[in-house]
Amino acid sequence: MTAKQQTMTFYPRLVHGRFNYWRVGMVLLTQLFFFVMPWVNWQGRQAIWFDIEHSRLLIGPWVFWPQDFIYLAALLMACAFALFLWTTIVGRVWCGYSCPQTVYSQIMLWIERLCEGDHVARRKLAQQPWHLEKILRKSARYGLAIAFCLWTGFTFVAWFSPARTLGTQLLTLDMGYWEAFWLLSYAVFTFVLADRLREAVCKHMCPYARFQGVMFDRHTWVVAYDTPRGEPRRGQDGAKGDCVDCGICVQVCPTGIDIRNGLQYECTSCAACIDACDQVMEKIHKPRGLIRYAPADAEKMPLWRFKTVLYSAGLLLVIAAMGWGLANHIPFKMDVLRDRQQLVRQTSEGEWQNDYVLRLSNGREQPVQFQLEARGLPQLTLPAQPYLVTVPPLSRTELSLSLTLPMDEAVTAGGHEIEWVLTESQTGQQRIEHSRFFTD
Ligand code: SF4
Ligand code: SF4
Repeated sequence: MTAKQQTMTFYPRLVHGRFNYWRVGMVLLTQLFFFVMPWVNWQGRQAIWFDIEHSRLLIGPWVFWPQDFIYLAALLMACAFALFLWTTIVGRVWCGYSCPQTVYSQIMLWIERLCEGDHVARRKLAQQPWHLEKILRKSARYGLAIAFCLWTGFTFVAWFSPARTLGTQLLTLDMGYWEAFWLLSYAVFTFVLADRLREAVCKHMCPYARFQGVMFDRHTWVVAYDTPRGEPRRGQDGAKGDCVDCGICVQVCPTGIDIRNGLQYECTSCAACIDACDQVMEKIHKPRGLIRYAPADAEKMPLWRFKTVLYSAGLLLVIAAMGWGLANHIPFKMDVLRDRQQLVRQTSEGEWQNDYVLRLSNGREQPVQFQLEARGLPQLTLPAQPYLVTVPPLSRTELSLSLTLPMDEAVTAGGHEIEWVLTESQTGQQRIEHSRFFTD
């Protein structure tokens, strides 16, 4: 590709076909989820809510606290394994169909087409001097694009700050500083990446485009031109191949490459060229598939090979561990912190006393009563027996309390292992945390 081609603006031609339906379907599906989910409620609160203020993540009936970070790590690992597996089998289809960069670039392209016309009209308009119609068309295009980006920014913030409250704040111009900052930042981010940079991000900025080659092998399905069938193409000596050199496969390519030159790292596997060439083949009464998804080695393509077995095993393992963890998830937590200023105190009643801070988190939608016990040393005593504490729904309570132990020469000096036991009164489920009690 020449330097001139690299810097020129692409006006990809619109294409219809079976793979285009998949692309449009994925845009609608992903955006439906992104834009609608913040408005879906579960038991009176947002169903999926990254509640930063209270350091918790609410997903339907589940509440995750910072201690549950392991689930997030497992989810990211599962996504990574799924992506590796998918890429090894069918190449960069993630890029072509569901990557947010592709999806938002596609939406911006729809807006551009709506306001400025097809690829020929858009190119002509760009070359014309400014006149009333150009001003009106460009204003409509950028007005719609900016409105969409602002809506995207609002929705992004709504995943962290409840959508209904945020909507009211927006309408009454009472939005907080941070909400307004992130709304505008995300809107600008979307506009720059999806409208201004578009596939330049895939070609020059995306790290995945660079390292996905590691996951490819000779059986990976890629978008490929059938060279023996297509060549020599029309216009070449002894032309008898099926390619009529119409160039439509290049015109529809969002990254502006010619797939007839072989697989290139710029190719996002969007299959627009497949749809385009299939239409040409139908017109000239040739079989479809001159450009098609095909493995690099057409002879052998076992699905189960070392890489796919490895990624599948990793994926299944992580999913099984997550499933087991969620099935046995106890929706309350306890953190125990010792007073670091003073290890042990002697009271006037002849007791050793240690001070602790306990943080209790209740992940249930109702208030929960707990019983607290300390075990590990005989006559270890809490300030009350039984020690009962009620934690409001979906919140945390911090307790500062002391344990006492009668001074006894039989108890050796130093730190003694003890257990804090938190029992949910209604279900009997328990959390046990270990700590130390010091004597001197
Ligand atoms: S669309 Fe098909 S026929 Fe036309 S140039 Fe591309 S490969 Fe050749
Ligand atoms: S070469 Fe084909 S599949 Fe690859 S990016 Fe261009 S149009 Fe999409």
